[in-house]
Amino acid sequence: MFMPKLLSITGKTKVFGIFGDPVSHSLSPLMHNAAFEALHLPYCYLPFEVAPPGLERAIRAIIPLGIKGLNLTAPHKEAVIPFLDRLSREAQKSGAVNTIEVAHDLLIGHNTDGRGFVASLMEMNIDPEGYRVILLGAGGAARGVAIELVEKGAEEMVLINRNLQRARNLADRLISLSPRLKVSFLEADFERSHLHSPLSAGVEAGNQTTLLINTTPLGMKENDPLPFPPQFLDPSWVVADLIYRPQETPLLLAAQKRGAKIVSGTGMLLHQGALAFEIWTKEKAPIEVMRAAVQKGISTHQP
Ligand code: NAP
Repeated sequence: MFMPKLLSITGKTKVFGIFGDPVSHSLSPLMHNAAFEALHLPYCYLPFEVAPPGLERAIRAIIPLGIKGLNLTAPHKEAVIPFLDRLSREAQKSGAVNTIEVAHDLLIGHNTDGRGFVASLMEMNIDPEGYRVILLGAGGAARGVAIELVEKGAEEMVLINRNLQRARNLADRLISLSPRLKVSFLEADFERSHLHSPLSAGVEAGNQTTLLINTTPLGMKENDPLPFPPQFLDPSWVVADLIYRPQETPLLLAAQKRGAKIVSGTGMLLHQGALAFEIWTKEKAPIEVMRAAVQKGISTHQP
């Protein structure tokens, strides 16, 4: 059973953490506390369940409480922006923040999701340059990932979301950054019905190398529907899921069964976390310690 090392917390311990709703599934506390311990830093990382109506008050409390750095998870990555003092280039471009740096009493928003996701692809020798990307979801994580993929040379983006306006907003942002990018968007709600025919127009296999990415939470709960109809999955595709628990989601298992290459969300968790760690501590992240903590968390923790 997991036993937090409370005895090593003293009056001098500096606090980091994550705001989310829900947050109990997060492996970030395990990963960051293992990294702090490995580098003998007097820091601890805590989960804070912050519901959307309380986000502004929680953000305003960061400086008075002396919290030194934070991560944000769903559903706060976009909503947090008006409460911050500055944004990094990536956060500005994506319109989403997953990391807050506290610097001289200023709150600076960063986005390490995109670089973290691409690092997880590169680790598997997948270079997104020239790819068509089919992105399921258009929320905070999707924004960071989409912007970074376009910067790394993805040629086409197909955005599929339940709320079409949100997909349209992301499409507009991508086009404003890269006017020559081919972008389309489709509405699909897989919880209610599988809208096969409108989908098929946008996602047929074709000749283009394709990367399909699930950025919705569908697949975290046992009875969730698949976020994409499995009959459209092609053996030539790379299929990635941002969900890291379960490590192999039903979508990844279906893709593997079709012969596609799969990428789990654990690599992104690790690399976006390592980048956040470096922003906060200015130290090189102990990546293998963090990887081991994530793997241990996945194999031993109940969601
Ligand atoms: P978010 O901002 O709340 O966005 C969620 C997205 O999923 C939206 O596009 C939303 O559609 C869609 N969605 C939610 N519930 C749905 C449902 N029942 N059916 C269809 N679509 C649904 O959340 P986020 O911050 O982007 O996070 C999304 C997921 O990525 C979470 O599972 C999170 O754990 C994961 N994530 C993983 C990592 C990692 O390091 N591996 C990093 C970041 C995020 P609407 O626009 O229609 O509401």
